[in-house]
Amino acid sequence: MSTKRRTNIKNKLAMHRIIFAFLTLEQHLHALVTTPRSYRPDRCPHCGFGCLWGYGFYDRKADRGADGDLNPVAVPRFQCPSCRRTCSRLPLCICPRRWYGWALQQQVLQRLIAGASLRRAAAIFALGYHTVQRWWRWLQAAHENFSFHLRSRFALLGRSVGFTAIWLAVCSKCRYAAMAWLDRDGLAVP
Ligand SMILES: [Zn+2]
Repeated sequence: MSTKRRTNIKNKLAMHRIIFAFLTLEQHLHALVTTPRSYRPDRCPHCGFGCLWGYGFYDRKADRGADGDLNPVAVPRFQCPSCRRTCSRLPLCICPRRWYGWALQQQVLQRLIAGASLRRAAAIFALGYHTVQRWWRWLQAAHENFSFHLRSRFALLGRSVGFTAIWLAVCSKCRYAAMAWLDRDGLAVP
């Protein structure tokens, strides 16, 4: 029984790394200086211990602007005094595994959901065709699992039926926080 309980804690906390704040890199960098506590996790994502220490930062490429002059962007890390493992916390404007932010991804996906072709969407946002195609295939593959979790969390989505209706509703009602909620539910988001 105790093994099962430990597993449940781990599953529940392991992906909890996106905080529900800071939609721009500028806000993130400002918060690192002015309100660093907003990044501190309540508990260790590995063992559940309740008091983590600041453990420096790691650098991420996150600024896709023409100059990219905000790179490298610091991401705060924390260490657990109990199990000694570390974790990091991302603002909403930085994706765990993609260089492009959610704001742009959502705009691209909204066009595709509304019926634009991959080529058209890529041209509008000056992105590579294969990048847009990858995002689109990802959303279609993740649809069933993600929409199940989002619908159980956001009652407003319950009335939406089908891929198009659900994701247009997610884009307009949940916005960027959708991925943070999925991360909190233990799902791997890109
Ligand atoms: Zn720990």
